[in-house]
Amino acid sequence: MLKKPDKLYFLTAGMPTATGKGSYPEAFDALRNLDLDGMEFEFVHGIKISQKSRSFAKENGKDLLLTAHGPFYINLNSKDESTTEASVQRIIDTARVGSEIGAYSITYHAAYYMGKDKETVYQQVKTKTKEILDVLEQEKINLWIRPETTGKATQWGDFEEIIRLSKEFEQVLPCIDFSHIHARTIGEYNTYDEFAHILDRIGTELGTFALENFHAHIAGIEYGDKGERQHVILKDSDLNYKELLKALKDFGVKGAVVCESPNIEIDAQILKEYYYSL
Ligand SMILES: [Zn+2]
Repeated sequence: MLKKPDKLYFLTAGMPTATGKGSYPEAFDALRNLDLDGMEFEFVHGIKISQKSRSFAKENGKDLLLTAHGPFYINLNSKDESTTEASVQRIIDTARVGSEIGAYSITYHAAYYMGKDKETVYQQVKTKTKEILDVLEQEKINLWIRPETTGKATQWGDFEEIIRLSKEFEQVLPCIDFSHIHARTIGEYNTYDEFAHILDRIGTELGTFALENFHAHIAGIEYGDKGERQHVILKDSDLNYKELLKALKDFGVKGAVVCESPNIEIDAQILKEYYYSL
């Protein structure tokens, strides 16, 4: 059964910095002490987690919401067929581990355009997504598979592409990275009305269900004329997170908000505290 969230959970992207590269038990304790609600397992540099840690997370993370982020080295549209197939495998492996730790969903950056037109790349990503979902079905792996809205113009995965793909497959829902959307549009999507537009589109296209089973990334972000440059702390970014949280609240959004700022737990707490002050 897919976990059905009863509220908005505030997660750190990876272990809280206070635990450094410590152990999962330390990280889970730190999250609880910080009054945070869960963690995104960062497999961005490869899926490295011991069997012991997988079992630990599944048994001891029931009061938390857990998600996983796939490797950065994924491109479902590579010019090299073997890289594309390795990318399919990396997403499947992320889902397998996600399932083993009891995760609610996994997310990843699906592809690069590689100079091809948007429709061709869309069809390629769709074909590969179907291959991934077929394996997950055989293995009875039941969690949300979420391509993420990406931050750079060279990356497949603008807001409309992610919604379109989510409409095609039951097990696919968006991971909306609001900071990426803001950076990719070079400063747009930073007002209440613009955030509401995104949520309204999701509700209209995918149904209220998608808003009640949400997965978002929020971080301070720095951007230039090609989009995302780097994540920074909320205080040093122009991201209007307060209006964003208001919109999430007004639309009754439930699920995961993962904070990816460099000071992950501090900004996650800022987000959570502001959200509950509303
Ligand atoms: Zn990401």
